[in-house]
Amino acid sequence: MGLRTNLDRLRAVEIASIQRDSKITYTITFRDEACSKAEPGQFVMLWVPSENECPMSLSEISQYVSVTVRPVGRGTMKICGKREGEKLWVRGPYGRGFTILGYSNLLVGGGTGIAPLIPLAEKSAKSGRDVTLLLAGQSADSIPLLSRAKGLRKLGVRLVYATEDGTLGFKGVATELLKKLLRKHKFDQIYTCGPELMIKRVYQLASANNIPVQASLERYMRCGINLCGSCAIGRYLVCRDGPVFDSSILKNVEGELGRFRRTPRSF
Ligand SMILES: Cc1cc2nc3c(=O)[nH]c(=O)nc-3n(C[C@H](O)[C@H](O)[C@H](O)COP(=O)(O)OP(=O)(O)OC[C@H]3O[C@@H](n4cnc5c(N)ncnc54)[C@H](O)[C@@H]3O)c2cc1C
Repeated sequence: MGLRTNLDRLRAVEIASIQRDSKITYTITFRDEACSKAEPGQFVMLWVPSENECPMSLSEISQYVSVTVRPVGRGTMKICGKREGEKLWVRGPYGRGFTILGYSNLLVGGGTGIAPLIPLAEKSAKSGRDVTLLLAGQSADSIPLLSRAKGLRKLGVRLVYATEDGTLGFKGVATELLKKLLRKHKFDQIYTCGPELMIKRVYQLASANNIPVQASLERYMRCGINLCGSCAIGRYLVCRDGPVFDSSILKNVEGELGRFRRTPRSF
């Protein structure tokens, strides 16, 4: 099968900056015209020679774009070992991003799942929405993009934190804090990204409160363009039908969330 569009062609981009933005992540910034027109929640396929491509959410979308990468395996370690001025290869952006609906919106991000919520919070606040951003991690220094998030306060974004060791904000996991917030506030829409078990619980709590959810899912993904089927969840493909899924689809895959996933060893 040939290339479908120009977006499927790998483009070399020069790294404008690479910064360690938390104990667990590096944020890499570059210029790319196609990515600068992406929607929050869309992802790119990143490649460095000799490694598999890695799907990555865009964590900044403007004239410059960024990805925020946690080094977990060969591809991501090589990407995070790059320096300013060196090259990366990128294709996309791909997938369905978040749709901004409702007025009073809560964004719940855990770990690297915070990445796509930062441009979403920015765009939502700029369009006049009331935005609360819940950032969760094991400790204060392991919350990705904390200083970028703090910068969103000037747009009126409210920040709340949950850390497992209690070094910032609520001591506990994201969903315990979410339960407390839901008792006090009425939200029109909840957006979430992070570990699947967290997403599952966010979906269950939101549904019990009749609040629609949009969740960005991460599954092991190889092609990103609906060719290989490796990112299947239920009868959906994360690359084609997601990565952002709303409550109407989450209810069909709820049983699979956090239970079963393919890994590179599944092939
Ligand atoms: C739509 C989407 C958006 C993503 N956004 C981000 C992001 O913003 N920041 C970030 O750090 N990571 C993100 N990921 C996860 C990232 O793509 C993987 O961590 C990366 O591809 C691992 O590649 P590797 O070669 O380093 O590791 P490998 O050697 O391939 O694998 C190392 C470990 O990571 C797991 N893994 C591999 N691929 C994935 C995957 N796609 N999702 C979850 N676990 C995986 C493997 O099962 C294995 O345990 C995203 C994934 C998807 C599908």
